[in-house]
Amino acid sequence: MDDRQRLRYSRHLLLNEFGEEAQERLLSSHALVIGAGGLGSAALLYLASSGVGRITICDGDRVDLTNLQRQVVHRNDSVGQPKAASAAATLAAINPDIRIEPLEERAGPERLMALVRSADIVLDCSDNFATRHALNRACVAARKPLVSGAGIRFDGQVAVFDMRRDDAPCYHCLFAEDAEAHEERCATMGVFAPLVGIIGTFQALEAIKLLAGVGATLAGRLMLFDALASRWHEVRLSRDPHCRVCGDARVAA
Ligand SMILES: [Zn+2]
Repeated sequence: MDDRQRLRYSRHLLLNEFGEEAQERLLSSHALVIGAGGLGSAALLYLASSGVGRITICDGDRVDLTNLQRQVVHRNDSVGQPKAASAAATLAAINPDIRIEPLEERAGPERLMALVRSADIVLDCSDNFATRHALNRACVAARKPLVSGAGIRFDGQVAVFDMRRDDAPCYHCLFAEDAEAHEERCATMGVFAPLVGIIGTFQALEAIKLLAGVGATLAGRLMLFDALASRWHEVRLSRDPHCRVCGDARVAA
């Protein structure tokens, strides 16, 4: 770290539990963020400002006027622009120290696998189950930690699946693919703006702790947030030994 970086990250360096080594680890780490919508906006802003050294942003959509109510990484001027490029421009303006790679594409399973392999951590900020499950399969196969978030209407959830651990549950252990008869997406449903900010920021918090090696992580727990009642609920997670993705009934990818 040079003197300017020591100033930029001084409030991390002043934390006894964080310090210079943790900041160095953050600067040399690579986060993959799938989705630059509401969750991704909040997560990306904090990953970049905190000094995650390399951030890959993958999103195939363009900024729409209806996004701006909650997708705070995008600006009014960005309407019509690809979300990945719009987010990258905002992050570069906040922190020119870091490397930002915008990918203007909707990545399918094979592409996700390649992207996940190159990253140290993965943040699922997507808005559909097909991507969530494909991303989970890639993280299980590559044994990469997955920080999963979701938010719709006034309900949010966040979980960490640390696939580096043998006893770690995966996303599929919790949400089987067959069980999802109807998908509720932000694209067509209402969503309370600060909710996705809270969940996305929580995802950044967990990712930064994992990358920096600071504190205890959320691994093994699911946090559910009811924004209307301002209540958090915590659910313990355990691995499903018969899970088709990570368990005995594992299907070869
Ligand atoms: Zn599983």
